[in-house]
Amino acid sequence: MRRTAHVIDTCHGTLIVHTLYGAECTDESCVELSEVRHALIIDCDEFGDCGCSAEFAEQLRHAS
Ligand SMILES: [Zn+2]
Ligand SMILES: [Zn+2]
Repeated sequence: MRRTAHVIDTCHGTLIVHTLYGAECTDESCVELSEVRHALIIDCDEFGDCGCSAEFAEQLRHAS
């Protein structure tokens, strides 16, 4: 059964939230990278394949 009215078009991909670069989705057809559309949201450092966190730490060090 398919409900269409006033239902958020949810994505079945995983939203990966980057520390520096915003979000991306594992589903290439994903059109809107908003957290409400995703049941699965992880930080990119949890994903383990991203240099964001290291870079972010580096920036913090320079800022202080
Ligand atoms: Zn990242
Ligand atoms: Zn998505």
